[in-house]
Amino acid sequence: MRLSRTLKAGAVVAALAVAMTACGGGGGAAPAGGGSTAAAGLVDKAKADKKLTIGIKFDQPGLGLKKPDGTYAGFDVDVAKYVAKELGVDASAITFKEAQSAERENLISKGEVDYIVATYSITDTRKQKVNFAGPYFVAHQDLLVSATNTDITGPESLTANKKLCSVKGSTPAQNVKDKYAKEVQLQEYGKYSDCVTALLNGSVDAVTTDDVILAGYAAQSPGKLKLVGKGFTDEKYGIGLKKDDAAGTKAITDAINKMIADGSWKKALQDNVGPSGYTIPTPPTPATA
Ligand code: GLU
Repeated sequence: MRLSRTLKAGAVVAALAVAMTACGGGGGAAPAGGGSTAAAGLVDKAKADKKLTIGIKFDQPGLGLKKPDGTYAGFDVDVAKYVAKELGVDASAITFKEAQSAERENLISKGEVDYIVATYSITDTRKQKVNFAGPYFVAHQDLLVSATNTDITGPESLTANKKLCSVKGSTPAQNVKDKYAKEVQLQEYGKYSDCVTALLNGSVDAVTTDDVILAGYAAQSPGKLKLVGKGFTDEKYGIGLKKDDAAGTKAITDAINKMIADGSWKKALQDNVGPSGYTIPTPPTPATA
C-alpha cells in the first residue's frame, strides 16, 4: 500500500515535471524553432533561426572552393557571407552545401538550402522554378584549351572531330551545341574540375563554361592551359532562392547593392579572382529578376 502510494506520488511528480518542461520548452521554442519557420520566407527564417544553409560550388578556384582544411573561399563565398550578415546571420552560423550545376533548382525547391551563390546564371527557364536576386556579376562563356593548342580559336572551331567538355545542367554546353558546333562530341560531367582533369590528360580538346571560372583553373596549372579569350555570351549571375519569396529577393538585392556601394564587392573580386589575372569588370546594376 505504502509503497504503491509512494510510487503513485512519484509518478505524479514525474508527470508534472514532464508537463512543465513541455510547457516551458514549447512556450519558449515554438516561435523560433517550431513549424512556423519551416514555411517562413528567408528574411523571417534568418531572423528567427540565426543560421543559414547556403549552396556554393566546392571546386571552382576564386569563386567557390572547399579548401583541404575544410574552410571555404572565393568571390561567391564572400557574397554569400555578406548577404547573410545583412540578414542578421554571422558567418560562423553558415553551413555551406555543395550545389552542383544540375542540382541547384532542386536544392532550392526542396528547401535543402536557403539560397545559392554558385556562378548561377539568371535564365527564363530557371526563373520558372526559383527566384533570382541580382545580377551581382556578369561573366562570358569562353573556352579553355591546352596551352599548346593552335586550332581552337572560338566556338566555330569545334568540329566533329573535337571533344568538348562541360557540365550537366549548365547553360554553356547546350549553347555551344545549339548555336555553334552541332557536330562536336560533347562530354558532360557533374563538375568542371572533372572536365579540367580530362583536358589536362588529353581526353578532351576543350572545356567550355564562363570565363571567370576557366581563368581560375588556368591559374592553377600555370603554363599548361589557356583561355581562348573570346567571350561569346553574357552570363548574369544571380542569387537563387525559393520561388515567390519576394521579401527575401528584395533583401538579397539590397544586400548586393550595399556590397557594391561600400567597396566590399570590388575588394572581394580583387582578393579572390584578381590572382587569376581576370580583369575585374565594373559592377552590374542588380534588379530583382
Ligand atoms: N553560369 C553558367 C550556369 O549557370 C555556367 C556555370 C555553372 O554551371 O555554374 O549554368
